[in-house]
Amino acid sequence: MPRPIQAIVHTAALAHNLDLVRGVLQGTKPSSNVWAVIKANAYGHGIEAAVSGFQESDGLALLDLDEAVRARQARWDKPILLLEGPFQMSDLGLVAHHQLTPVIHNLEQLAMLRAFDGSLPAIYLKLDTGMTRLGFLPVNLQQAFDQIDALVRDGKLGKVTYMTHFACADRLDGLDDPLQRFVQMVTNRPGAWCLSNSAACLLHADKVAGLAAGHGRSLWSRPGICLYGASPFSDRAASDLGFKPAMTLRSELISVKDVQAGEGIGYGRMFVADRPMRVGVVACGYADGYPRHAPTGTPVAVGGQITRILGRVSMDMMTVDLSGLSSAGVGTPVVLWGEGGPSVDEVAKAAATIGYELLSGVTARVPRVVL
Ligand SMILES: *Cc1c(COP(=O)(O)O)cnc(C)c1O
Repeated sequence: MPRPIQAIVHTAALAHNLDLVRGVLQGTKPSSNVWAVIKANAYGHGIEAAVSGFQESDGLALLDLDEAVRARQARWDKPILLLEGPFQMSDLGLVAHHQLTPVIHNLEQLAMLRAFDGSLPAIYLKLDTGMTRLGFLPVNLQQAFDQIDALVRDGKLGKVTYMTHFACADRLDGLDDPLQRFVQMVTNRPGAWCLSNSAACLLHADKVAGLAAGHGRSLWSRPGICLYGASPFSDRAASDLGFKPAMTLRSELISVKDVQAGEGIGYGRMFVADRPMRVGVVACGYADGYPRHAPTGTPVAVGGQITRILGRVSMDMMTVDLSGLSSAGVGTPVVLWGEGGPSVDEVAKAAATIGYELLSGVTARVPRVVL
């Protein structure tokens, strides 16, 4: 028998969530095309499940070449955006062979394009508008434009789309400065724009579309986390926004015991019972991707009822409070997060992290069951 832990992936929820953001983005003028972001093994859900759940998207965005190949093998024949572009010269052969659209964010990558003896029908040029991560800054932008124009003239490059990534899209005023910088950088360059992540799609769709309309540009967006039913906002639950959890991390109780007052639970005896109580041991630990820093009190569902974890999470197991759950026994189902349990964001909050980290951190030993 395998360990009872599983990550159940709901492709219907993926499709529902995509539909929901598309609704928001189609309500604006111009409406925006959608890249469904499936980096990091589709935020832990699996590339193949994502290809199936996101059939209605206009393209898939990711950054590992081997994940792009997996998407092609899963018969995805629409565009694929490579979010970090080529890492080395030899990547470009695969980029061309699999018809990937690479992001180009530095002069080193432009040098690779010049040295490449093939041609690329489309690239995304990434501009840094205040994130200070990837992208051209005003100081080296003209050089990049000159090199791109030369590549286009030589027939080695086709269409150029301009892209940036926002550092503070979850704030109401978070786009004001970066959008101004972006427009300044691309104002004399024809080409579509690709701007919004989940937070910007949900909070700023009208503002972004209005700006694009004013400059006569078409738009692409890049939502990720909301497609998986988690929230890009610290103060707004995904369920309140209408998103459905796409992953249910479930397991079972593998031991139940009665504990006397004064007994400690788990490594370091971090929780000490102050009264006689019943506790259960769940087959799920940090080697499965459950956060070790989740403290006593972190919500978990046992037999359909919300209770709390007790003491330290260990590598393969954790202990939960069975007070008031007298019918729970070995084999009782446990939902760590997802449908029928706490949201991944609630668990993340308790563990001082974000849903993104928990979803993408579910480890390879947890079998994915795609529904
Ligand atoms: C991860 C990523 C996204 C998606 O971000 P979410 O917050 O998950 O919506 C969009 N664009 C880029 C460049 C990214 O790296």
